[in-house]
Amino acid sequence: MSMNKETSAPVIEAVSLRKSYGPLEVLKGLDLSLARGEVVALIGPSGSGKSTFIRCLNMMEIPSGGTILFRQKKVGDRFRDKDGDIGIGTLRRHVGMVFQHFNLFPHKTVLQNVTEGPIVVCKTPHREAEERAMDLLAKVGLAEKHAAYPSHLSGGQKQRVAIARALAMDPEVLLLDEVTSALDPELVGEVLTVIRQLADAGMTMAIVTHEMAFAAEVANRVLFLDQGVIAEAGSADEVILNPQNPRLQAFVSRFR
Ligand code: ADP
Ligand code: MG
Repeated sequence: MSMNKETSAPVIEAVSLRKSYGPLEVLKGLDLSLARGEVVALIGPSGSGKSTFIRCLNMMEIPSGGTILFRQKKVGDRFRDKDGDIGIGTLRRHVGMVFQHFNLFPHKTVLQNVTEGPIVVCKTPHREAEERAMDLLAKVGLAEKHAAYPSHLSGGQKQRVAIARALAMDPEVLLLDEVTSALDPELVGEVLTVIRQLADAGMTMAIVTHEMAFAAEVANRVLFLDQGVIAEAGSADEVILNPQNPRLQAFVSRFR
């Protein structure tokens, strides 16, 4: 990629991010800055706060403390932009999310799943939304499935529809939460291929994954979340291939 990571302005940032559920402190002050076109992988044990962290990044979870910045402006606690703050609605519209369990609309076709956001949220005309959706479905290799319902698709196909649906909103950042964890092993590759293509095309992404080889391949940076803090951060080489921290060593060796 030709972009200079040192000088390009961050698209999304978390500063001293905290999140508690009642007495349970899940995120204990995390910092992250994602430059345009950067891919960050988040790894860490189950329960370490990975999902909570990326859900806070698009305010699906409201942080208990700290700040989210989008395009270097503070995200406020209102839905609408106000007093120079970015609204939660604006943030969500520009920060796409893909989940482990797809979360497709079961009563809508593949095409309708992909056009729903643009038509409802962006008021895009049907025709235009459908043309763009067909382009995106072709990109993820599913144009021929446009009229199918999700229940007739494999897990890998469902996840590729979910990715096309997120892309239909033309996001500036894409958050992926263990998007291959619910898939049969033989279907993982087709989804990773799509994500790899997005990375090559310059999409800014934060990817929670247990696929260590994939994380090492696509990520510019890898963060190890452990007990609610970023315990290690660095290149894939440092964090995944040559870990120094004993807890990280133990974690990574389980996925070798
Ligand atoms: P990870 O994605 O790394 O497995 P999570 O972010 O899902 O971790 O969860 C971190 C911790 O927060 C866990 O102890 C989990 O039980 C707890 N937690 C997550 N969501 C909620 C919630 N809505 N209410 C209460 N506790 C939660
Ligand atoms: Mg999780």
